[in-house]
Amino acid sequence: MTRSGFLLPFRLFGIPVRLDVTFLILLGLLTWLIGGRVALYVDLFDLPLDPAPLAHGVTPWALGLAAALGLMVSVLAHELAHALVARRFGVTIREIRLWLLGGLAQFDAMPEHPRQELLVALAGPLMSVTLGGLFWLLAAWLGATAGAMLVVLSYLAVVNVVLAVFNMLPALPMDGGRVLRALLALRLPHVRATRIAASVSRVTALLMGLYGLATFNVLLMAIAIFVYLAGQAESQNAVMQDVLGRVALEDVMTRNVDTVGAGMPVPALLDAMIDRRHVFFPVVGVDGTVVGTVNLRSLQGAAEGATVADVMTRDVVRISMRNSAADAFEAVLRAPHQRLIVEDETGRMLGLVSTSDLLRVVQVHLTARTRNAGT
Ligand SMILES: [Zn+2]
Repeated sequence: MTRSGFLLPFRLFGIPVRLDVTFLILLGLLTWLIGGRVALYVDLFDLPLDPAPLAHGVTPWALGLAAALGLMVSVLAHELAHALVARRFGVTIREIRLWLLGGLAQFDAMPEHPRQELLVALAGPLMSVTLGGLFWLLAAWLGATAGAMLVVLSYLAVVNVVLAVFNMLPALPMDGGRVLRALLALRLPHVRATRIAASVSRVTALLMGLYGLATFNVLLMAIAIFVYLAGQAESQNAVMQDVLGRVALEDVMTRNVDTVGAGMPVPALLDAMIDRRHVFFPVVGVDGTVVGTVNLRSLQGAAEGATVADVMTRDVVRISMRNSAADAFEAVLRAPHQRLIVEDETGRMLGLVSTSDLLRVVQVHLTARTRNAGT
């Protein structure tokens, strides 16, 4: 998923909301789908309206757009419910994204405790059911006085309940999958709980895909594929966290790291890269602390007479040696050049950790595990 799309000019409870470009496709698709079925809905919901004038001119498309927008606001409220409960448990919410397959609240990390994950996962569907009830009450209260808007209100009442039920299907990373995983994790280790939940997810995704295929429902097929892949990624991530969580950062990091001085001229840096066969160096200042990093790309377009200080990347990501390798894994993916500087309490560099260091640990552990299982 890319960071494409644009941010809304306001925040909701302090949380930025991003509209993905694919969200516009969804909005158009929904307007068309709903608008084309206005007369059908009047019949289906048994509304006291004459369907004939509703199907003429721009009326169905205006109603379709109103219902599509109402659905999007409902999805946003659903995500907001997840986000606000998660925030109560101390999780940082980066943003809420609306995209082709609905909404996504992006957290920095899921709450560790299964009971907290359970509550975060349940908050969304609970919000949707509540909204469905409110729209239903509003539709019942207004009745025919709402005019054509009665179609929209009734649609939103039904669709919010459908949304809640659909999200509670037992498939990761949907809410139902998270609820299942959290319930299992109350009794089992996290990684086993995730593995079981991921297996159930694959079955759910498969059934969803088959149903989508049988009913020519393209959106459902797309969701099935997304769920299948995301379930697999979730399961791999859990294994990785499990392995790395038991490894001390000290045992993974590269010690005796070659460094270069901030005052070194750029041609000398190139020589150092060739001589020492490294293309990445932490840069140390006069006091011996790390002030930046350089790699091959830093050399591009360097001005005549430039020094390492002029071309280095300054936003170094540091991590204390007290952290586990699992903590490092989350940080390294966001670090420039995918490397972290490991420091002691005084800020002295002890070593370096790269993504490949961490992946190697996982690989070794998994190979060992398979071998043990084989014998
Ligand atoms: Zn949800």
